[in-house]
Amino acid sequence: MTIDFKEKESVIEKVKSLLGGEEKFAMVETYGCQQNVNDSQKYEGILEKMGYTLTHDREKADFIMFNTCAVRENAEKKVFGNIGALKHLKLKKPDMVIAIAGCMSQQESVEKKLRRSHPHVDMILGTRAMADFPEALEKVLSERKRVINRREIDYICENVPTNYDGGCKAFVSIMYGCNNFCTYCIVPYVRGRERSRSMEAVLDECRLLAKKGVKEITLLGQNVNSYGKDLGLTEGFATLLCEVDKIDGIERIRFMSSHPKDISDKVLETMATSRHICHQLHLPLQSGSDKLLKEMNRVYNTEKYLSIVKKAKELMPDIAMTTDIIVGFPTETEEDFEGTIKMLETVKYDSIFSFIYSKREGTPAAKMDFVATEEEIKARFDRLLEVQNRISYELNKKCEGEEQMVLVEGVSREEGVLTSRNYQNKIVNFKGDESLVGKMVKVKITKAQTWILIGEMCE
Ligand code: SF4
Repeated sequence: MTIDFKEKESVIEKVKSLLGGEEKFAMVETYGCQQNVNDSQKYEGILEKMGYTLTHDREKADFIMFNTCAVRENAEKKVFGNIGALKHLKLKKPDMVIAIAGCMSQQESVEKKLRRSHPHVDMILGTRAMADFPEALEKVLSERKRVINRREIDYICENVPTNYDGGCKAFVSIMYGCNNFCTYCIVPYVRGRERSRSMEAVLDECRLLAKKGVKEITLLGQNVNSYGKDLGLTEGFATLLCEVDKIDGIERIRFMSSHPKDISDKVLETMATSRHICHQLHLPLQSGSDKLLKEMNRVYNTEKYLSIVKKAKELMPDIAMTTDIIVGFPTETEEDFEGTIKMLETVKYDSIFSFIYSKREGTPAAKMDFVATEEEIKARFDRLLEVQNRISYELNKKCEGEEQMVLVEGVSREEGVLTSRNYQNKIVNFKGDESLVGKMVKVKITKAQTWILIGEMCE
């Protein structure tokens, strides 16, 4: 089902009139992944259309939304702490509207907790409540009643006003939801089944961004490699990449996340032969133990994973590989963990996103007993970082002396220094004028560090 946001114009107008003539401020605070960042940009776009001015200042805001993440328990605790901290603001400003949206509020247990212990929250919006947001806000403003919307119908929402920030980079969601049910992951339970946007809608958005001066687009989905399957497309993602690559003005194309079970040779070949697709592949491994991969329901083994890496490196010798690793999955033994270290040494990732396993109620892994102690898991995590830091540094060192094109993203905290990214998505800092922000510049890498590269502008 597709909902056209243009049909919401009249409700948006009603909200506008309810706000009266005075300037009202809104802020959206984002937790979690890029998909959430992109959802927040849409909520911001809708709020601007309603007449709000965006702010980052909680004290100033008349509307505050926390767009939440449910992937890790710690993030949830942090959000609850922040929700509690809003109580005093609401006492000072009773007309203020507080909304909790996203993956956390999609869970029944969270809704109950918010209803019971946080009466100052006006709106509880799940992951599929965006289409109903104008009606929900109208109700809160006109009736001063709390609105709860955790609808579970999967849909695609098009033509949503979006606040792209005016920067040189943008996220474009190409699909929503996930069908994979990895045993540790809450996402399929809170974001519904996979559904792809039409290729035309995605391309129209990319063309619009190119016109706005955006240079780099990251295509987003929980599993981009299965893009278009629900639309009856074969090799839908490779086709989409080819089409985005044809758009003039877009200098760089990235995508995430890929699932190793679905990435095809065609996608890798498309990357290798494209004009603008960065030779950078984020391929979540999660564990280097075949036993664990099975228990995680990842549907690939290390042999299959390494065959993808081999193919990618054959086609693109300059490819940068990154991954996600979970340390301390309940059944992880020392031997399983050694398998992960071995994979790090074999693949030689440029960087990794590593996490200690976080138990999520309602997932199969939450019922599994731990075989390692907290201390043992912490020690494994530290060792993982130590190994990866060495590999990252070794790979960065190879960049010294190279001349690379970078996209300048902003100014660094250090005076007179700009921060940019090379095609491998590595951070490159160099001295330069602020007027270069948003431009592609050639830089010579002069020094490697573990996390960043230092460079100087080429004449
Ligand atoms: S592929 Fe697995 S880890 Fe990724 S969102 Fe889907 S269920 Fe979660």
